[in-house]
Amino acid sequence: MTLNRRTFAIIAHPDAGKTTLTEKLLMVGGAIHLAGEVKARGAARRARSDWMKIEQQRGISVTSSVMTFERDGIVFNLLDTPGHEDFSEDTYRTLTAVDSAIMVLDAAKGIEPQTLKLFEVCRLRSVPIITFINKVDREGRDPFELMDEVADRLALDVCPMNWPVGMGGEFEGLYDFASGRLSRPEGDSREFLGDVSMHSGVTDPSLADKLSPAACERLAAEAELAQAGYPEFDPAAYRNGDLTPVWFGSALKQFGMPELLAAIAEHAPPPRPQPSDQGEVLPTQADVTGFIFKVQANMDPQHRDRIAFMRLVSGTFRRGMKLTPSALGKPIAVHSPILFFAQDREIADSAEPGDIIGIPNHGTLRVGDTLSEKNDLRFTGLPNFAPEILRRVVLKDPTKTKQLRKALDDLSEEGVIQVFTPEIGANLIVGVVGQLQLDVLISRLEAEYKVEAGLEPSPFDTARWIKGSDTALKDFAQFNRDKLAKDRDGNPVFMAKSVWDVNYQSERHPEVEFSATRER
Ligand code: GDP
Repeated sequence: MTLNRRTFAIIAHPDAGKTTLTEKLLMVGGAIHLAGEVKARGAARRARSDWMKIEQQRGISVTSSVMTFERDGIVFNLLDTPGHEDFSEDTYRTLTAVDSAIMVLDAAKGIEPQTLKLFEVCRLRSVPIITFINKVDREGRDPFELMDEVADRLALDVCPMNWPVGMGGEFEGLYDFASGRLSRPEGDSREFLGDVSMHSGVTDPSLADKLSPAACERLAAEAELAQAGYPEFDPAAYRNGDLTPVWFGSALKQFGMPELLAAIAEHAPPPRPQPSDQGEVLPTQADVTGFIFKVQANMDPQHRDRIAFMRLVSGTFRRGMKLTPSALGKPIAVHSPILFFAQDREIADSAEPGDIIGIPNHGTLRVGDTLSEKNDLRFTGLPNFAPEILRRVVLKDPTKTKQLRKALDDLSEEGVIQVFTPEIGANLIVGVVGQLQLDVLISRLEAEYKVEAGLEPSPFDTARWIKGSDTALKDFAQFNRDKLAKDRDGNPVFMAKSVWDVNYQSERHPEVEFSATRER
């Protein structure tokens, strides 16, 4: 049954329309019935949790969730990724758990900085990408210019799958190349309410019954250019990550939604093999394996349990099964695995490769852990990123050192922050990729651990994991002891005053390897 799973994420720069698109895909997929429920669900969830106040105050989403829905025999697992750049680490890890992605662009903006960053992570793992150019109901840039920008900036072949007949005020509909279907806006809202007509091609005279003469001419001319100017859709090139099929549409006005869902069902890959230290693990392998890509504290501050999200890589998981987490080394029985739907959650009796299950636990499971029946392999490729902001944590009440350590340990397990223990000095240093993570840290310390703490500047600006022979590291330490620390797994880390410092030291110590990411 693994062939019918589609596990994917939507990547976008903030405001491109990821939330709106998610909502509409869930509607088309039959998972929710009214627009607005994705946000309503968010509001209900926020009301239950203290630290989510940040989410409320700033109006941005800081958690990623999983939504599963089934349509026409295909099970879609949509992994939501936080759009705010401060949470990119979380997003990156989520992308290790998907088999494909939809990249949403705003037709007025094209590729934006966050799109590019997220795309690069997909490329590292050859994650196939479907491009959705959103907001064609508004004035946007020329479609050719947008296509060329995707091709040039991402170094990908692009293939137009449909075409907007005008944009903004002149928008008269979407024409689908493969089927000859024209979908048109209706009524005052100029939404897609179902006005569809079928045509034999862009020069079909019957188009004149549906479009203005200028639009007919324009569609014929542009479509001819588009089809001549770009390669044909090649499913193998797409699955390889070399080509992206492009759909134009409007999430808000519901243009292009069923087409997009159908494209995922038809073209997006079923569960892919995953890299491990024992080579690639195929989804068809009989014994159960998976990895944790996210840990989320329970929203209920009364109960300290947390949910670890596991991507199932191989085998059929059954409730109650014993799996060994790599960091623990002894098996745990998974009695209440959770499946997540748009509006509720359910205990899962079984799950297939590609599925995401939530495993409630009290801190036994960590991001990056492999879970397996035989405990004979480790999945690779879940990155840690070098922090870009480093702060000293200072307690307001010095008797709470123990609580603070426990809290920092828990939060770093969840991947909210990274914690570094300096070789010299007593204050722990926390590292994050973005400022917002620090706000979450302080607010959660207070709400969940009753620890009041402040942050002070640290003398460091960034950090690098260091590797080398014992002699090389010893030699390096001799000159830099005051800049050395250990991460929570005991790996040596060089705390640098600036990127310049990193470059300087790596020139002076060529035998030491400085790395900005660490695979777990
Ligand atoms: P996100 O930050 O990527 O999740 O973006 P949202 O889905 O929240 O959308 C950002 C803004 O763009 C909102 O005001 C949406 O209503 C608007 N928007 C989303 N899709 C469309 C669209 O197709 N057309 C128009 N005109 N606006 C849209």
